Amino acid sequence: MRQRLIAGNWKMHKLIGELEPYFKSFAQEAGLERDEGLSDRVGILFAVPYTMLARAAEVGQALGLRIAAQNVHAEAQGAFTGEVSLGMLREVEVTATLIGHSERRQYFGESDAAVAKKTQAALDGGFLAICCVGETLAEREAGRTEVVVRTQLQGILDVAASRRDQQRNLVIAYEPVWAIGTGRSATAAQAQEVHAMIRGELCAKLGASSADSLRILYGGSASPSNITELLAQADIDGALVGGASLKAADFAKMVLAADRRP
Ligand code: PEP
Repeated sequence: MRQRLIAGNWKMHKLIGELEPYFKSFAQEAGLERDEGLSDRVGILFAVPYTMLARAAEVGQALGLRIAAQNVHAEAQGAFTGEVSLGMLREVEVTATLIGHSERRQYFGESDAAVAKKTQAALDGGFLAICCVGETLAEREAGRTEVVVRTQLQGILDVAASRRDQQRNLVIAYEPVWAIGTGRSATAAQAQEVHAMIRGELCAKLGASSADSLRILYGGSASPSNITELLAQADIDGALVGGASLKAADFAKMVLAADRRP
């Protein structure tokens, strides 16, 4: 059984001073400090801004929360002004990162090739690599969802295919661009259709056993009100959550929903 993963993406929100009050309230709402706590059916991760990674890792550790960067550079060091390396993240006890979020692709020109390079560096560095794919509205309306997502997956899966031992650290997040931050989530059926196709690609490129064990998250206006239906789908193993992760109580509700099995 795949462990579900509920991952919050804070994007460029919150200041360091807000971190502890948030985690405290989240821990309370999700019952993390109670003896029975959550089961190991669900993992919790927060992708927070760089400035608060060190503090988040420190505070999060005691609560069993995994902390991730929202981006990373593929090179170990060098003249890359404004960038952060895997070694720098590791130094502050962070060993997970988002890669190729649609906002990185859209506003910072990240190509599929750059995403593949980052995935390679992250997997080689023993990081959990949450690689994002997803079509725009125009692409969906043109009936190109499958071809777009397959193309985005290709470089990522080629990298994973040549790294048998590190494959387990790969997570795919399917995030239709038209659903991100719009309040218009994909329906559970629309999401499942693409997730099933992604699972098929994992099977074709990495084999049945990897396809069966790797997690595919849905992202795009996931919220307490739709998470249960999304998670009821056979190939949806969790969620990457933007807006709803900014409120501790809402995010806790989503984590609790993921901890419940039908
Ligand atoms: C995201 O940023 O990855 C995301 C899915 O955002 P939202 O949940 O706000 O749509």
